[in-house]
Amino acid sequence: MFYYLDLIPPGVCNLLNSSTIYSNNEVSLAEVDIYGFDYDYTLALYSNALNTMIYNTARDFLIENFKYPEGIRKYDYIPNFAARGLHYDIQKGLLMKIDAFHYIQLGTVYRGLNPVPDEEVLRLYGGTHHVPLHQVSGFYGKVSRYGPKVKQFMDIFSIPEMTLLALANDFFISNDIEYDPEHLYKDVSVSEAIGMVHIKGYMYKWVMQDLEKYIIGGEETYAVLHRLVSHGKKLFLITNSPFSFVDKGMRYMVGKDWRDFFDVVIVQADKPHFFNDCVKPFRRLDGNGDLQWDKINSLEKGQIYKQGNLYDFLRLTGWRGSRVLYFGDHLYSDLADLMLRHGWRTGAIVPELDLETRVVNTEQYAQSLTWLQALTGLLERMQMHRDSQSMEVLQEWLKEREELRLRTKNLFNPQFGSIFRTCHNPTYFSRRLCRFSDVYMASISCLLNYDLSYTFYPRRTPLQHEAPLWMDQLCTADAKPSLE
Ligand SMILES: [Mg+2]
Repeated sequence: MFYYLDLIPPGVCNLLNSSTIYSNNEVSLAEVDIYGFDYDYTLALYSNALNTMIYNTARDFLIENFKYPEGIRKYDYIPNFAARGLHYDIQKGLLMKIDAFHYIQLGTVYRGLNPVPDEEVLRLYGGTHHVPLHQVSGFYGKVSRYGPKVKQFMDIFSIPEMTLLALANDFFISNDIEYDPEHLYKDVSVSEAIGMVHIKGYMYKWVMQDLEKYIIGGEETYAVLHRLVSHGKKLFLITNSPFSFVDKGMRYMVGKDWRDFFDVVIVQADKPHFFNDCVKPFRRLDGNGDLQWDKINSLEKGQIYKQGNLYDFLRLTGWRGSRVLYFGDHLYSDLADLMLRHGWRTGAIVPELDLETRVVNTEQYAQSLTWLQALTGLLERMQMHRDSQSMEVLQEWLKEREELRLRTKNLFNPQFGSIFRTCHNPTYFSRRLCRFSDVYMASISCLLNYDLSYTFYPRRTPLQHEAPLWMDQLCTADAKPSLE
């Protein structure tokens, strides 16, 4: 019997492709009959114009409400300054990238807009560039007043926040004004200026007033939902955003009947607490979005529910285990609990893959990385030669290796490099991504490239004790591991 391939998945060619779905764990879509989605940055992707608006409004709030110096207004948003997953030392006012082993990547520490020299970083952290666990923000990336002082920014929405912190620090430093970085952090953060944009609903208003400007990729969202439903899949939505906002966006992307696609719709869910508290009951909203107080004994199609918790959700729907695949962009508040406690399959939305795979595909990156690997292999083998001539060569190679590392880093983002790697190691972000997601992709539209009975097989990448020697790896750059 012959089967014809309807869809050839993008991963089968040699180049990386941003339409590919990458897997950390084997997932068979044939087993999945329920698809769940977060809304912001999962179903709805936003243009950079939104970051600029968030930044401008929070900056002006500092000036108008907290009487920050007028000079800060001159600082415009810098679109590609910060990146997701960075850490911020609240007391020292430093933005930096940390690797999976809690080491700061030297060369990626910024005070304001300027890099901090390596020697100073070492001095500031007691002679090391390791940040101990108790100083790093907790499991959900939150920091408390008395808690850790190094916060990780995991939210895509936090990019304007990091940029505002950097630019405000820069203003105070370059104008020689004494200030307390901890206060600055508090004034900028989610509890004040940035939070005001969200809490007062400014962001919702801007998006609703100009959907075309802020929402991107709506047709693809429609196509994905339509395809899943027409294959008999059940869909649900769990979002922290309010109904009026989600409704407006979904009408724009999917059409006025968008709710017909979904079996359950939950708004203002208060994730991550939705996934780990079993306290808040579900509430129903009527057609006008007004709160009803009737007891919820079932979650019905066509209704809108607010708050609730996952335990009640599981009890009322019976949707458990690997029949369910949930997509979200926030590794902590969307995916961590589902992976660690509840056993749903998880899909991480990482829009940054778009740019990063484009860089990895360039000739320049491939050449630099191949030479970097070869050079490291040479260093490893030649280090036992102690005569002066060899030592000189080794020193030259070490210097060249540093230059190569810098060059490959700068191809991604001149300040912080790739969000997935420090020079060689996975980043703190990358490790969490592998831990909390079964599959990851640039956007849900990648699903359109796969048959709905496709199985994602993660590539078997060698462990350290299985790895071949450096020199044998010349043709297998780390982004393109050999198939065994
Ligand atoms: Mg989201």
